[in-house]
Amino acid sequence: MNGVVIVGAGQAAASLVVRLRNGGYEAPITMIGEEPVPPYQRPPLSKAYLLGDMGLDRLFLRPESYYGDNNITLQLSQQVSAVDPAAKTVTAGDQQIAYDHLVFCTGSVPRRLPAAIGGDLPGIHEVRTLKDVDAMEPEMAEGKRVLIVGGGYIGLEAAAVSAKLGMKVTLVEASDRILQRVASPETSAYFRDLHKAHGVDLREGTGLVRLTGTDHVTGAELSDGSTIEADMVIVGIGIAAASDLAEAAGLDIDNGIAVNAQGQTSDPSIWAAGDCASFPHQGTQMRLESVGNAIDMGELVADNILGKTRDYVAKPWFWSDQYDCKLQIAGLNSGYDRVVVRDSGDGVLSHWYYAGDQLLALDAMNDPRAYMVGKRLIEAGKSPSPDAVGDTGTDLKALLKA
Ligand code: NAP
Repeated sequence: MNGVVIVGAGQAAASLVVRLRNGGYEAPITMIGEEPVPPYQRPPLSKAYLLGDMGLDRLFLRPESYYGDNNITLQLSQQVSAVDPAAKTVTAGDQQIAYDHLVFCTGSVPRRLPAAIGGDLPGIHEVRTLKDVDAMEPEMAEGKRVLIVGGGYIGLEAAAVSAKLGMKVTLVEASDRILQRVASPETSAYFRDLHKAHGVDLREGTGLVRLTGTDHVTGAELSDGSTIEADMVIVGIGIAAASDLAEAAGLDIDNGIAVNAQGQTSDPSIWAAGDCASFPHQGTQMRLESVGNAIDMGELVADNILGKTRDYVAKPWFWSDQYDCKLQIAGLNSGYDRVVVRDSGDGVLSHWYYAGDQLLALDAMNDPRAYMVGKRLIEAGKSPSPDAVGDTGTDLKALLKA
């Protein structure tokens, strides 16, 4: 038995191995990761860890001893350079490792600003790995000026941390509103107001022409013709599936590494889970960039390697912490035609996305009760009337019984 070889050592990989061993899988398991550390949580990187509120020890998903204790070979600081599906081997450094099952848990890579516009100057940071965040932390200090490029969750969470640290924050978002890719205009407006109230100079519909500086970034020219000075830059302009190795191995690629409902690629001995994988959803191959998806797909693939023949049912959920606001999201809003606002006052509110009469998703701001009820409704395929949802006199829990 050659067992399971996993390319990648992030959240999906960690969920997969724990599920395999808990499910009684006894053959060898080898996990190969490029980073020098065992699997850790990424969500705190742009939140509590960046702020200094959470130590390194709390980031790790399992203590390093877990892997040895469970007969899992963890190869860190190691790169897989090739996969040979015919021979069922991977090449990592000077080793050839044979597998019965190979799983791609390669995650995603951040989009980078081109070097031609100064994107490779020192002082420009991405937020993807522990190393990225450890490199930016020393540059973040009260009174320093930070330019944040991109108004998605990475940019907004970094802006919140920077503002909390007493930095002077400018955020530019190329499209006409922040969170445009993922949220409604109502939710964008909520977070625009929140950041402005904390002193962030938030500029939407504003792109970056170039970054300036010679041996370190000193500022930027923006598409509105203005120039700004900056001591550092944080970039959050999206991510792409890490699918190059799978593509080179001849696997089908369609918006990431294409898998079937069971997480299996176009080669039956090869699987994929997490950010790198696209799965069938409403006639297309969908990719979900979230920790919840990494956990669920990792467990799905483990179950199917164990012979359970289980299909994936995505239950999307996300969260974000910015200042004192906890945003919780359930469902996927694509295709919505109406947003119902339920405003309970005192900063407790939720935005419910409908397509016709069908409830698709909700964004809950400091409203865990709405989130919990909304999530359960969406997962059960139930759609309460928009009028009832918008009426704060309606008891939310009663909607579950209707
Ligand atoms: P994102 O959600 O794709 O947002 C990136 C934003 O940057 C987009 O609005 C994009 O606009 C804009 N942009 C692109 N190029 C730009 C430029 N040159 N100048 C100014 N703006 C530009 O990605 P992200 O924020 O980098 O996050 C990466 C992934 O991690 C996402 O999947 C995100 O959801 C996830 N994440 C999630 C959380 C959470 O759930 N709390 C936290 C952190 C990260 P266009 O769309 O017009 O290109």
